[in-house]
Amino acid sequence: MGNNKVTSNLESLKALSEAARCAEEYISGIREQRVSPSSLELAELERLNSSLPNKGQDAQQVIADLHHYASPATVASTGGRFFGLVVGGSTPAAMGASILNAAWDQVAVLESSAPSAIYLERIAAQWLLQLLALPEESSVGFTTGSSMANMVCLAAARNRQYERMDIDLARTGLAGAPPLRIVVSAESHVTVHKALSILGIGKDQLVKAPCDNQGRVRVDTFPELDETTIVCLQAGNVNSGHFDPFKEIIPMARTAGAWVHVDGAFGLWAAASPKQRHLTAGVALADSWAVDGHKWLNTPYDCGLAICREAQTVHRVMTTQAPYLQAGVQVPPKDMVPEFSRRARGVEVWAAIQEMGSEGVAALVERCCGFARQFADGLDKLGFEILNEVVLNQVVASINDESALQQIVRIVQEEGVCWFGTTVWQGRVALRLSVSSWATSAEDIALSLDSIRRAMEQVLEAK
Ligand SMILES: *Cc1c(COP(=O)(O)O)cnc(C)c1O
Repeated sequence: MGNNKVTSNLESLKALSEAARCAEEYISGIREQRVSPSSLELAELERLNSSLPNKGQDAQQVIADLHHYASPATVASTGGRFFGLVVGGSTPAAMGASILNAAWDQVAVLESSAPSAIYLERIAAQWLLQLLALPEESSVGFTTGSSMANMVCLAAARNRQYERMDIDLARTGLAGAPPLRIVVSAESHVTVHKALSILGIGKDQLVKAPCDNQGRVRVDTFPELDETTIVCLQAGNVNSGHFDPFKEIIPMARTAGAWVHVDGAFGLWAAASPKQRHLTAGVALADSWAVDGHKWLNTPYDCGLAICREAQTVHRVMTTQAPYLQAGVQVPPKDMVPEFSRRARGVEVWAAIQEMGSEGVAALVERCCGFARQFADGLDKLGFEILNEVVLNQVVASINDESALQQIVRIVQEEGVCWFGTTVWQGRVALRLSVSSWATSAEDIALSLDSIRRAMEQVLEAK
C-alpha cells in the first residue's frame, strides 16, 4: 500500500512469495538456531520500533524486515528441543495448511461465510471424537486453546445445573441465584480457576479435592456431591502428567447429579494411543472435556477444543440470533464457542489428522512418552532425583541444592541447545520438562542431556 497506490494481486503475490522464501529459510535453519534468542538477537528487535510510520512501505519489504529482525528473536518451538510449558511443534501438513488458510482468510461463522472451512471442521470434529474415544454426539467447538475451552464447558455446566433448578440464567442472570457447589482438584490448572472466576464463581466458593503425591485427586477424601455440583477433574497434571481416577469418581459424581468437566489440555491425547490409553480409563463418562490442538496434536497456534456431551446445552449458552444470520441445517460454529468472527482453526486440525492418521497420532504420543523416560533415565544417571512417576510426557527432577539447580537451568537456557524452566512440585523447586513435539528425536534428548551435564559440571566445579 506504499504511497497509497492502488495495489493489485501482484502485491499480494510478491508478499506471499517473500513470506514463503523467509519461512523456508527459517524452517531450514530451525534445528541449528539457538532455542531461545541471545541478548544480541533480542536487542536487534529495536530495529522494528520506530515512531508511528507516516508513509507506508512496500509489502515485500515489510515481510523481509520482519524475517531479518524478528525471526532470530523467536523461540525455536518448532525445532524439537523446546521443553518449556507444554508446547507442540507444527506438523508439516498443519503448517502448510495454516499458510493456505491465511490466503483463504475465511470467517468461520456460518456455512455461507466459510463453506469449505466449516465442512473441514465438521470432519475434523468427528475424527477428534474417534481419536479421543469420546461420545460421538458431542458438540466440538474450536477455541483459542484450553483456557477458552474450559470456559465454554464450564459455562455450559453452570447454566445446565441452574436449569435443573428451574433457573434460566440467560434470562435472570446470576444475581440472586443460589450458589452452586464447585469441586475442583487441589491441582486444577490455573486456567480452570480463571474460567470459573470469569463465570462469576469466586475462589471462596471452591471446594478443593485433596490430591496424592502425583497430583491425582484422592477417592477416599473426595468431597460430597449433589445435583448442584460441578466437578473439575484433570487428564494430565501440568507438572507430573498424571491423571485423576476417572473410573472411580465420574460414575459416583454423575449418580449424585453433578456435572463432571475434565481439563485434558494435553493429557487427553493419551486416549489416542493404545499403549497410554489405560491412563484415561473412564474419562469418556464425563459431561465435558477441554483439550488442545496446539499442544500434543502439534497444530499451529492457536487451537483448542471445547467438547460437550449434551450438544444442545452448549448451543443454548452460545447461540446468537439475528435476521441476517441464516443458519444451515447443522449447528453453526458461532453457536458452539464465544466468538462470532473466528479463524477457521479446524482446517489445520483436519490437515494434521489427515497427514498422521490415527496410527501416526498414536506414534507421536508414544514417542514423546518414550523420550520423557529417556530424559528421566539420563537425569537419574546425572544424579538428579526424579520427583514424578514418568507415566506420560512430563518429567520433574531436582537436586538437593536449590541454588545450584537454578544456576544449572540458567546456564542451559543461556547455552541455547535446549530450553526448559523450573517449577515447584510437592514443595520442592524442580526442573520441569515437557516433551510434546513431533519434531523431537532421540538425538535431541541426548544433546539436551549433554547440555545439562555441562552446566552441572560448571556449577559443581565452581563450588
Ligand atoms: C496448557 C493448559 C491449559 C491452558 O490451555 P491453553 O491452550 O494454554 O489455553 C489448561 N490446562 C492444562 C492442564 C494445560 O496444560
